[in-house]
Amino acid sequence: MLSGLAEAESAGLSRGVQVIAGIEMTAARLQGRRAVHLLGYWVDREDAALLAALARARRLMETHVDTVLAAIGALGIRLERSHLEGYRHRYAGGAALVFGMLQRGVLRGLPAGTGMRLLRMAADEPRAYTLREAVDLVHGAGGIVSLAHPAKLRRGEPLQTAAELRAYAECGLDALEAWQWIPHGWGSEHYRRVADELGLLVTGGSDDHGKRDAEGRSRLGRQPVTAAVLEPLSERASVWRARRAPRSA
Ligand SMILES: [Zn+2]
Repeated sequence: MLSGLAEAESAGLSRGVQVIAGIEMTAARLQGRRAVHLLGYWVDREDAALLAALARARRLMETHVDTVLAAIGALGIRLERSHLEGYRHRYAGGAALVFGMLQRGVLRGLPAGTGMRLLRMAADEPRAYTLREAVDLVHGAGGIVSLAHPAKLRRGEPLQTAAELRAYAECGLDALEAWQWIPHGWGSEHYRRVADELGLLVTGGSDDHGKRDAEGRSRLGRQPVTAAVLEPLSERASVWRARRAPRSA
């Protein structure tokens, strides 16, 4: 979603803080069913193709949520959209459905197979774009693309090698998120080396979706990133901006 950017930009202006228009997108993974997160920086927040793709992703997810809620309703159990409010980051999706089902006791008393079917159905989220399509959308909007939190790509294996990430890089990535929210600080060193090997620039961030750490503090703004990364990233973004198709008048 790009809807908060205008407000962020004007707040930045009044406080002397540089705001870079950014977005996190969820794309279909190369193989397998899980998703991959991409970060776009310096995107034009009014880019028509990007906005249309985001709207399509949102509509697909709404339909998915309705389908799962209807399947639950068909069993005579009530779970409504409003019950999912507390679990959503941006808008309700598979995770909100799963949390909603578990915490509101939807599965209680159901045969195990039926409960499992509902959970699988909820988790099987639709994807509006492949990784390559998402990369092209961001580039088309004049932005650069970084692979978000590679440490989360495979559960329990935070340190991915360059060989493991090459196929992602070849989808057109500009950068890799080296500074990311993983316990300890050891990941950034590793991922800076991996980025180097893959010929990628580096980014960093807190991946904040309103999540809290173990002490209940917000992550927002608490992932330091060296300022030296900014210039090469901004230069790359100007290359993509220059390549944009001229807008039809
Ligand atoms: Zn993410």
